[in-house]
Amino acid sequence: MAITHSLGFPRIGAKRELKQALEAYWTGKIGLSNLTETGRQLRERHWALQRRAGIDLVPVGDFAYYDQMLNMTVLLGAVPGRFGFGDASSSLDCYFQLARGNQDQPAMEMTKWFDTNYHYIVPEFRRDTTFRLAAEWLFEEVEEAKALRFNPKPVLIGPLTYLFLGKAEDEGFDRLELLPRLLPVYAEILGRLEKQGVDWVQMDEPALVLDLPADWLAGFQETYRRLAATGPNVLLATYFDSAADRADLMKALPVAGLHLDAVSAPEQVPAFLDGYPSDKVLSLGVIDGRNVWRTDLRRALALAEAARAELSERLWLAPSCSLLHVPVDLEPETELESEIKSWLAFAVQKLQELAILDKGLRLGAEAIRNELETQDRMLQNRATSPRIHNPAVKARLEQLTEADFRRYSPFSERISLQRERLRLPAFPTTTIGSFPQTPDIRKARADYRKGELDEVRYREAMCKAIREAVHKQEALGLDLLVHGEAERSDMVEYFAEQLEGFVVTRQGWVQSYGSRCVKPPIIVGDVSRPKPMTQEWIAYAQRQTRKPVKGMLTGPVTMLQWSFVRDDQPRAVTAFQIALAIRDEVGDLEQAGVAAIQIDEPAIREGLPLKRRDWDDYLGWAVKAFRLASSGVGDDTQIHTHMCYSEFGDILPAITDMDADVITVETSRSGMDLLAAIREFRYPNDIGPGVYDIHSPRVPDKEEMLRLLQKACEAIPPERLWVNPDCGLKTRGWPEVEQALANMVEAAKMLRQRQASAVEARRRS
Ligand code: GLN
Ligand code: ZN
Repeated sequence: MAITHSLGFPRIGAKRELKQALEAYWTGKIGLSNLTETGRQLRERHWALQRRAGIDLVPVGDFAYYDQMLNMTVLLGAVPGRFGFGDASSSLDCYFQLARGNQDQPAMEMTKWFDTNYHYIVPEFRRDTTFRLAAEWLFEEVEEAKALRFNPKPVLIGPLTYLFLGKAEDEGFDRLELLPRLLPVYAEILGRLEKQGVDWVQMDEPALVLDLPADWLAGFQETYRRLAATGPNVLLATYFDSAADRADLMKALPVAGLHLDAVSAPEQVPAFLDGYPSDKVLSLGVIDGRNVWRTDLRRALALAEAARAELSERLWLAPSCSLLHVPVDLEPETELESEIKSWLAFAVQKLQELAILDKGLRLGAEAIRNELETQDRMLQNRATSPRIHNPAVKARLEQLTEADFRRYSPFSERISLQRERLRLPAFPTTTIGSFPQTPDIRKARADYRKGELDEVRYREAMCKAIREAVHKQEALGLDLLVHGEAERSDMVEYFAEQLEGFVVTRQGWVQSYGSRCVKPPIIVGDVSRPKPMTQEWIAYAQRQTRKPVKGMLTGPVTMLQWSFVRDDQPRAVTAFQIALAIRDEVGDLEQAGVAAIQIDEPAIREGLPLKRRDWDDYLGWAVKAFRLASSGVGDDTQIHTHMCYSEFGDILPAITDMDADVITVETSRSGMDLLAAIREFRYPNDIGPGVYDIHSPRVPDKEEMLRLLQKACEAIPPERLWVNPDCGLKTRGWPEVEQALANMVEAAKMLRQRQASAVEARRRS
């Protein structure tokens, strides 16, 4: 009988109970015991849900009040010394300060967990970092689960992945050097778990699917030999991509079992089955832990049966990865059309599928005949449903030619026509799109959604917000204005709600970081645009001013990246479909006389595959999708794009290929590190490296921004340099925004003056 288990369950709660409790605690509305009671209830409820679904081994330690990597940092006593916590470091209050910063110390850095939209807290390592078993939470949760009669399987981030995902704070120091100091603490943890009667421990080592340097790979033998000596059975888990390159290494490790992601990389399974050691179990992740589609049970069953032929009782079944990345429960989605709902599975439903598979494997396909037949009908229906398949969209994609991906003239010709049309000064100032989402704006949107505000009054409220934003920008002296995005709660959801082929959920929340959740739309079918989406607002904004107003759209790759995507066609095809819809919108804006249109692609870099060898393929279609969205306009229409959240140095060639006339990028946090790459690469089009960090309430003065701009002038020819913040301003308040933008406009003026005098001086000499 195959053992079924799950690698982790969403911790936030079906109604985001953890979010509410955390935020109430942070603002002093509830006490610590109230918060920890919520945590306890969530764990209990989630274990019960999993057992009810038929799961044999429930994960323990996947719960976190903020993040699982931060949990490890506290458990391993690796809290950065800069916080000065000493022995108190494992208290929840210290924990939150690490995640969120305090008066004296900025928060620990946060970055994306592999290629997901979950963010983890990055460990900080120094040459003298030491480790010790410093917290009890793991052991307490194991006791908690045992007391409730669950069969606990503690989940830990493995030592190599933990080190690899951290950052070295000292120069010339390799964090792998810390391994010998780290292992005794892991051994101690395993020893304690064994004393608690734990049979199995899951060690997540997803770093094994990355391009790992040889010395890191070599560390695995040493590590697991050391850990094999103590404690319970270790199940070493990889996910998100293929570990086939590491099959020999992994099979030779002295662990009791391996877990593979057979959804994202089913092709790796044979490499492991071939000569699989007889002393190990193999856990196959056959249910997609990262997407919301119902499993093709026949395919999964076939895969499992093939594996069982080799492994018999040593085959385990699981979702591909932790279910952290999908919403909790589909049941409450009463507003979804039932046809669409029948295609979907969230965390709870996925575990039910796992139980069905297990039954099929134990008793034969006949035993799950009903389920298989239901799903055959569902698959059949999905394959032909007019909700999904739009022949016009498919035909349009087929008729695309090279010319559809190219602007008429090269940048050098376009830009002079655009300058003539826009008549902006040197070093033009602009912003990234959104302005503060004031309580009034949020309330109007929420009331409208609830039906408490009618269409007319909702529009009035939005127009008022737009008018005010435009007037403020005029008063500040900005050059290229925006309408401020008051009508958008989210830059992806706003478009998803209007595009055919997308659906949005009511409760489909997924943790992004800490208490922050996102509700990714679901791309269910061929994408098209039934009618214009933004024109009315932009045109309204333009009527309020004689200065040019920039149109504002979200790009195809970002739409794709921040949604749940179809699993029945390549991502590239979906991206092209979205691109065509956006291209139509761009065309309408141009028709309406909008002279500059921004197509945001903040997510382009995070879409990069985990392995370098897959990068070119992705970048090839991602760039093409952007070009398809943006190339339908005349030479004198200026296309902008915006990117943030990451380092762009290594994808500059692709960014250049996008051929936007102007790109605004996040740079201020890194002190403009990107500039060196831009100079070296000679980025050819206009560019605005952000001069202030909008993520912080701090208002930089004009001299500071001028210094950054002068630094930028060394990398970018002055006639191609734009002046703008790092990102959109929707999370900030108006007073700081007005101050910061006033300083920014001043800095641009000072720069213009200096440049004019430099030109004058050159002319004289
Ligand atoms: N136009 C968007 C805004 O200003 C861009 C947001 C982003 O880059 N994530 O909010
Ligand atoms: Zn941004």
